[in-house]
Amino acid sequence: MSIPENIKYIKSEIPANVTLVAVSKTKPNEMLMEAYEAGQRDFGENYVQELVDKHELLPKDIHWHFIGHLQSNKVKYIAPFVYLIHGVDSFSLLKEINKQALKNNRIIDCLLQIYIAQEETKFGLSFEEARDILNSKELKDLKNISIKGFMAMASNTNSERQIKKEFQSLKSFSDQITNDKILEIKHLSFGMSSDYLLAIQEGSTMIRVGSSIFGERDYNL
Ligand SMILES: *Cc1c(COP(=O)(O)O)cnc(C)c1O
Repeated sequence: MSIPENIKYIKSEIPANVTLVAVSKTKPNEMLMEAYEAGQRDFGENYVQELVDKHELLPKDIHWHFIGHLQSNKVKYIAPFVYLIHGVDSFSLLKEINKQALKNNRIIDCLLQIYIAQEETKFGLSFEEARDILNSKELKDLKNISIKGFMAMASNTNSERQIKKEFQSLKSFSDQITNDKILEIKHLSFGMSSDYLLAIQEGSTMIRVGSSIFGERDYNL
């Protein structure tokens, strides 16, 4: 199927209140434009330089989501335009985003990345670390960031049961945060090509879908 058909199909499967982020890393601008012309406005990228280049050349009404692992020294390159930073996993990174947002006279929306997978290699905060950040006094001084919710990646496994368990752990953490009135959760970003329907079933409001829209990537980044 073509890119527009893929988008149309995925949209027909998901509720209207769930945001579809088209993950376009490694894909050329022509392919992003095909998606754009089909009405897609939310795009996700993992690499700062690639995101900066694409932002420069593509239409200005695109919402650019940064979904990769962000290094503090690179925040300044995306701060002028990024729409939502998904993978924030430390207080020092939040501080740097705040600093660069201030320089650009804007408020940057962020999601805290939570570690829910079994694997050792994934980035992210534990539930406890995330709660500590949200409760910290220092956070209140960061006027140019706004934490909108959480992002997570499930284990890379075929076990639907395992993935479901991991998604449920994030949802239940998010519900506790809401009940304790710590934060108003606007977005829960989880679910990719292989598991987005399950993710929505378990409470995702934002799915990040790459290969089901654009086809397999040449290399697995
Ligand atoms: C690449 C990537 C995706 C999309 O993966 P697909 O399996 O191609 O849908 C989603 N989230 C993150 C963080 C990614 O790096």
